[in-house]
Amino acid sequence: MPRKPTASDSSFIVKVSPRGASRLKDGHVWVYRSDIVSADGATPGSVVAVTDHRGQFLGSALYSSSSQIAIRMISHDVVADLPALLRQRVADAISYRQPFVHDTNAYRVIFSEADFLPGLIVDRYSDILSLQILTQAMDSEIVRSTVIAELTERLHPSSIVERVDPRVRQLEELPPRASGLLQGEKTSTVFNMNAVQFKFEALEGQKTGAFLDQRENYAAAVQYAHGEALDAFCYQGGFALHVAPGCAQVCGVDSSRPALEVAEQNAALNHAQLKDKDKEIEWIEANAFDLLKDYSSSGQRYDTIILDPPAFAKSKRDLDAALRGYKELNLRALKMLRPGGILVTCSCSYHVSFSEFIGMLADAARDARRNLRLIEARGQAKDHPILLNIPETAYLKCVVASVT
Ligand code: SAH
Repeated sequence: MPRKPTASDSSFIVKVSPRGASRLKDGHVWVYRSDIVSADGATPGSVVAVTDHRGQFLGSALYSSSSQIAIRMISHDVVADLPALLRQRVADAISYRQPFVHDTNAYRVIFSEADFLPGLIVDRYSDILSLQILTQAMDSEIVRSTVIAELTERLHPSSIVERVDPRVRQLEELPPRASGLLQGEKTSTVFNMNAVQFKFEALEGQKTGAFLDQRENYAAAVQYAHGEALDAFCYQGGFALHVAPGCAQVCGVDSSRPALEVAEQNAALNHAQLKDKDKEIEWIEANAFDLLKDYSSSGQRYDTIILDPPAFAKSKRDLDAALRGYKELNLRALKMLRPGGILVTCSCSYHVSFSEFIGMLADAARDARRNLRLIEARGQAKDHPILLNIPETAYLKCVVASVT
């Protein structure tokens, strides 16, 4: 019979306050530093046994000595063999996706807490894996080598690169480290999503490369986009390239010249797919706020407008300003859409809830004196799982609406 775990099974014991304990009992996996009663000399990045203030065992966690999120739970049980647990979690993350991640060879393989591997993100771009480490525990040599070995055995990548966010390492008090190859030599490849091809440069670009979380929304947009289309905040052309075959004309706008250069190369990769071979997507380097303002006052009209701006609310404090920003953009877009037009509008700010986003859109529709009918309310692609007891894992909103 399995032995009932006790707190003494792990060398370090972290005691949490009643508030921290009730958060864990509610199914969340984080405890903030302010809810730590004692950490009993726990070392940076160690596996710790977590107890409530009475000493009752609550599970095992990964400890950070510097982050505001002091512990992230990793198991309800005692963790005697961390590498074995990590190998199993990596294998589980890969098989979890198999039934529903298709029409792509680029997807998120591991999404941190949502795959029970807090602090680890792995994206696949065809034969290259891109890895991000966000915590002290995941940065240890044993964790790195275990994860890399398991990923290699199961996915056989040509290479594995690490993308480093220097700010994260600073917050975790980890020594500076450069982005670079961890295994293999290949740093560029071509991947496809929904039969659209994209270039991938593992050591350039924002995030780890593309916005994989929009993959299913690209496919949704294709169903409704028509006529003259504008993709504001187009980055490397994710939406623009998807909708181009079904539209008469497409214009992609972004403030980043390097992103537009890749967008143009991506367009060339997909040229064969365009029915009208002379059709070219127009890429414009501009501030989308200014461009929408200028175009709407000069009477420019569209049949499809896609809005996918960067996160406006980085914290709860920014919420009001963020909602004003979203409203301004959406209001301008609504005024420029022809009757029967399609608005595809997104927010990747976790701090803006779905209902706040819909409320903002309703306000914008009222101010623009347009009727907006909701066709689809969507979120992030399924390879970015949402864990219901961890609200922070749900962040992307994508609304497809028809304007009259
Ligand atoms: N829709 C894209 C992702 C967009 S990410 C895709 O599916 O791949 C947000 C983009 O907005 C980034 O490319 C960034 O360069 C751009 N951006 C940020 N501020 C901007 C502004 N004021 N005007 C235009 N583009 C902006």
